Amino acid sequence: MPIRAEIVSQDRSVFEGDVDIVVAPGADGEMGILPHHAPLLTTLKPGVLRVRHSGREELFAISGGVMEVRPDIVTVLADAAERADEIDISRAEEARRRAEVSLQAGLPHDSEAYLAAEAALRRSNLRLNVARRRRDGPRITSGE
Ligand code: ATP
Repeated sequence: MPIRAEIVSQDRSVFEGDVDIVVAPGADGEMGILPHHAPLLTTLKPGVLRVRHSGREELFAISGGVMEVRPDIVTVLADAAERADEIDISRAEEARRRAEVSLQAGLPHDSEAYLAAEAALRRSNLRLNVARRRRDGPRITSGE
């Protein structure tokens, strides 16, 4: 008996389907959601989200958001989300390079620009990590 999963980002529906489990980067650590899970509403931190269905696992890079769980459906509203095979590696590498340049520019560490560059570096590293893991094949372990 599967559970329905819907992953929606600010600009589009990223995934919709019946799955066996959703493993999401909860604010307090990784959370595995199986069918008939107790209802909950939680924030998600930037990280890897995995869904397993039809005997395979799909990976998504999630830039934070919220997750609502009801017994028959998991809804993820993400700031940004990409399926592993949608990730543009050159774009992520370019974003990482830009972020690294900004971080080395001598900005005050509490300035908005510095904090934005740190967040951009985290997003680009996450995307590169997810894209690389897809190339290397599915894994059961998780992380950013
Ligand atoms: P960039 O500087 O390259 O725009 P970003 O981290 O600022 O990266 P976001 O603001 O997080 O980008 O996302 C904007 C939109 O672009 C979202 O829809 C996101 O899914 C998409 N996106 C960002 N980077 C990539 C990428 N490397 N591959 C595919 N889609 C991406």
